[in-house]
Amino acid sequence: MTPRKYVTIDRHYIYNRQHGNCFFCGKPLKMGSLSVDHYLPKSAGGTNDVFNLVASCKACNADKLDTVPEDVAERHIQWFIQAYDDHHILTKSSITIPKETLRQWIHSIHRVYPSGDFTVFEAPGHRFYVRLNQIEKVIAFHLADPELF
Ligand SMILES: [Zn+2]
Repeated sequence: MTPRKYVTIDRHYIYNRQHGNCFFCGKPLKMGSLSVDHYLPKSAGGTNDVFNLVASCKACNADKLDTVPEDVAERHIQWFIQAYDDHHILTKSSITIPKETLRQWIHSIHRVYPSGDFTVFEAPGHRFYVRLNQIEKVIAFHLADPELF
């Protein structure tokens, strides 16, 4: 499979998700002058997925350090679930899990970690492998998996 080279960053979506305000200082943003930041910096493995992007004003963008925010995992989970509900996460066509079932699993995601090119979101019993705003694989695992306890 040839990887997609271009990722469309949906500025309008991120702007609306933040109700038009800078993520860091809360100041109202103008669509034309906002910056799109990687919440987990690219230097720390941050991706271009919609759940890793925040809109900020120029001043906050300039001030932002290349550090890993403390709440990065909970934000990724929150923004992934929200983007899924808002139809900004695609599901690979070969995944035939009924939509409502998938939605329920996604709403119980409680853990996130990187794995190669993928971001893995984990719910009890299921792992979602996500890349470029698309769920590429869904893996079921045994709930007795000792790593959960
Ligand atoms: Zn700001």
